[in-house]
Amino acid sequence: MARRRAFTLIELLVVIAIIAVLMAILMPALQKARKQAREIICRNHLRQYGVAARLYIDDSDGVMPYSFTWLYKDGGRGCRWHDATKNLQANPSLGGTLWPYLKAADIHLCPDFDVMARTILGDHANCGIPMEPQHGYVMNSYLHGDAWNYVPDPHKLAIRDTKRESQVKNPSGVVFFSEENTWSIPNFNGTGVRLSSVGINDNNLRPVPNGTTDCFGTHHRAPVSKPDMGLSNAVFVDSHVEMVSASNPLGPPGNTFILCWPGGAPIPTW
Ligand SMILES: [Zn+2]
Ligand SMILES: [Zn+2]
Repeated sequence: MARRRAFTLIELLVVIAIIAVLMAILMPALQKARKQAREIICRNHLRQYGVAARLYIDDSDGVMPYSFTWLYKDGGRGCRWHDATKNLQANPSLGGTLWPYLKAADIHLCPDFDVMARTILGDHANCGIPMEPQHGYVMNSYLHGDAWNYVPDPHKLAIRDTKRESQVKNPSGVVFFSEENTWSIPNFNGTGVRLSSVGINDNNLRPVPNGTTDCFGTHHRAPVSKPDMGLSNAVFVDSHVEMVSASNPLGPPGNTFILCWPGGAPIPTW
């Protein structure tokens, strides 16, 4: 009778080592695939935001929603985006003008932003509201909002009465909804370029060229330890969806501003 052949300890160790090597090779690819899936879900959300805005504009005689009341009817508040007690599906009476067009779908939170916000508490570590992200998208306040107030007089006239879609000079180059950063970016990519000195998400995006206020979120495709180096998803006024950088080395600091300015060329700086 033949003796039953068993694995030796060496053979088992070799098999375990091979599995470990395979895991090390495959894990980054798996993580990348998961990040890409989150990116695609986010782009789909913004596509649906574009459709909702289109329906709203058609029903409103060409007027775009107001950037402070499109999501919550009493306006954007700094920490509401991560306040589970103010969830709009659970509290629809808090919803703003665009909410009737958005309420049916679960499209208000980018899954990548969710991960990022829970990982990098940043400015919200001490605000006292548990970090339970509810929504992460913001409307460009230059379209129909208060952003024109913050523009120096020489440039103000170009945009101060903007509220109709037909007034936007370059609909394919102007962001309608995007993702806002929740932490300040004082030294973008280590270049010294200041993109934003505030980190906030209040549904209302009001960037200026000198970087003293809001900017796009930069969490997509960012290295784990360098959240300033990623990209943001955006839906434009013409309804196309695109990934954008928060800074353009070819232009003035703060591509965020360039992509929000509805007044056409020349793009002002201050
Ligand atoms: Zn996203
Ligand atoms: Zn907070």
